[in-house]
Amino acid sequence: MRLNKFFFFLLSCAFAGAMFNQQIYELPVWGMLLDLVVVCVLSLALGLLISLVPYVRVALFPLVSAGGFAAAYFYKTFGVSLSYDSLAWLVEANRFEVNSFLTPSLMGILGAGIVFGFVQAWLSGSFDLKNRRLKFGIFVGVLACTVFVYKGAWIGLKHFKVQKTYEAISLSRIYPFSVPKAARMYLHEANEMQKMLNLPDPATVPCSALPQEDRPIVTFIIGESVQAYHLGINGYPRETTPRLAKEKNLLNFGVCRSFGNTTRVSLVGMLTDATIKKRKPRHGSFIKIYNGLGYRTAFYSKQNKIGRSGQLTDMLISCAQDVQYIHNGGGDFTLLDPLEHAANTVKGGQLILLHMSGSHFSYKKHYGDDFRKFVPDAYENENLAQYHDEVINAYDNTIYKLDSFLVGVMDKLRDKDAVLIYASDHGDSLGKRGVFLHGTSIQKEQYEVPLLIWYSDLYAQKHPEIVAGLRSSLGKSVSHDNLYHTILGLGGIQSQLLDPKLDLTRGKAI
Ligand SMILES: [Zn+2]
Repeated sequence: MRLNKFFFFLLSCAFAGAMFNQQIYELPVWGMLLDLVVVCVLSLALGLLISLVPYVRVALFPLVSAGGFAAAYFYKTFGVSLSYDSLAWLVEANRFEVNSFLTPSLMGILGAGIVFGFVQAWLSGSFDLKNRRLKFGIFVGVLACTVFVYKGAWIGLKHFKVQKTYEAISLSRIYPFSVPKAARMYLHEANEMQKMLNLPDPATVPCSALPQEDRPIVTFIIGESVQAYHLGINGYPRETTPRLAKEKNLLNFGVCRSFGNTTRVSLVGMLTDATIKKRKPRHGSFIKIYNGLGYRTAFYSKQNKIGRSGQLTDMLISCAQDVQYIHNGGGDFTLLDPLEHAANTVKGGQLILLHMSGSHFSYKKHYGDDFRKFVPDAYENENLAQYHDEVINAYDNTIYKLDSFLVGVMDKLRDKDAVLIYASDHGDSLGKRGVFLHGTSIQKEQYEVPLLIWYSDLYAQKHPEIVAGLRSSLGKSVSHDNLYHTILGLGGIQSQLLDPKLDLTRGKAI
């Protein structure tokens, strides 16, 4: 009887290894079989190790198992594997984001994971071997076998340069061994952010601005999860941006390379002088320069504060004179109210940042009937690949809504001396190579975002040299690196920090 339970326990461990690590089923058959052996041996070793710890095992097996079931679900559903970014998301996600993913299927899967874990804990109690020498022998034997199998496969695969198979058995990919590494990276990132909290104030560097009466309203719109190639004005065959297409003062810089593929990371690149190559900012945000020169500054957001590892982002934004996180249930259009109020009541130059909720997953939750242009758009989280057309339709509807939102902002600013710049924080994967969402693996489309600049007629009249510079920059290859410098340039600000090569208002000649 005991032997039977022991046998079933071993079987459950092998099953767990094979189940939790879905990435191995995308390998060629020989690679899959080899990696399957490796993950099963590792899982057996871990199972035996946990079973040696009385009491703790009763909690640990269900915990590991629920996490493993969830990891398998997210990989199968979105092509997302555990990384420090997904861990950060898990720790910092807000209620709205969690709700987008919390489906009955996921709840059922988590429940099944917990039950499976309890069964493992129960089975593991059946071979509480009294003979300590035997126990020690089993432990050493399993450990040696594990090291032999894992190291052997690892060295062999590295030698034969079979990259995918090799990566699939890296400890940073195999669940649950991937958890400590992701946690370490997450804490490391949070520490790095912490260290940067006291960035030098860029306003202390000599800078100058236009006379009071010539200072414009600069609006910087931070988009969310918008992929450049889904905009009609970027050549997408669907009319997702019909209203933008009619704007004569709109400058489309095409595809812009993003600083990162998560909000948290990209915002650092968008708000500071950090560049894609030199990733650590040297100074605080351009908001401080605007403050120092006497412009009124504001930040209005449809998102939540970013959380622990995004503390730097929150700090960069907090220096704005008016900071509002608007959670009144409405969508991005509610950002127009404080914008309109500021544009109509404040005299002189202003910098207004609008942070959208944009095209974040789940796409269909970001628009109502007014913007349901592409149908059918009903999909289930669990079958994104099968509902691929519907997912694309829903995503395109969010772009269609963005089109109206941006024109809505322009409408509030048309009779003012005003300019706006729009860039998304990162793109989103929409099923290419089976990958959805962003931030969990390096996919080209997650780094390709739109960059648009629009100016009012009055702005063109008052700042012809800036508009000429912008027009001559069209066609340049652009990235988030340009934002810091261009946003200062748009406000007519000169600073020694400003890199003319990155300032799109300076034109192509530089
Ligand atoms: Zn984002």
